[in-house]
Amino acid sequence: MIYQRDTMAYDKPLPVIDNESRPFWDGCREGKLMLQHCAECGAWVFYPRVLCTACHSERLEWEEASGEGVIHSFTICHRPAGPAFAGETPYVVALIDLKEGPRMMSNIVGADPESVRIGQSVRVTFEKATEEVTLPKFKVIS
Ligand SMILES: [Zn+2]
Repeated sequence: MIYQRDTMAYDKPLPVIDNESRPFWDGCREGKLMLQHCAECGAWVFYPRVLCTACHSERLEWEEASGEGVIHSFTICHRPAGPAFAGETPYVVALIDLKEGPRMMSNIVGADPESVRIGQSVRVTFEKATEEVTLPKFKVIS
């Protein structure tokens, strides 16, 4: 599911999309969490890059990930990262260990920040920021 937070102009920092990361962002726009998977050794790779982080192979292929993971760590931000984030405090920035292996930083959304715990299971959800950029966020599922 892809949702849009509001109809205001998006004024937060946006990712720079390049040739290596384009399939990831294309996937997000379609509601899919795409990760690179090494055809040589089977490792999953995130963030997007040219070489496998496990075996240095160039045979990285894009595959849809489960979108499931576990909260490795998190912080509750009471002070905004900048003026554009001021209306969202308190918010949760978390490190999520994806089921496939890679660790991803994102926000935990749809939950009282005080209820978030290390080890909770989460699932990806998508937030449309602009026409080009849709951001992966995570919701607690247990
Ligand atoms: Zn590899």
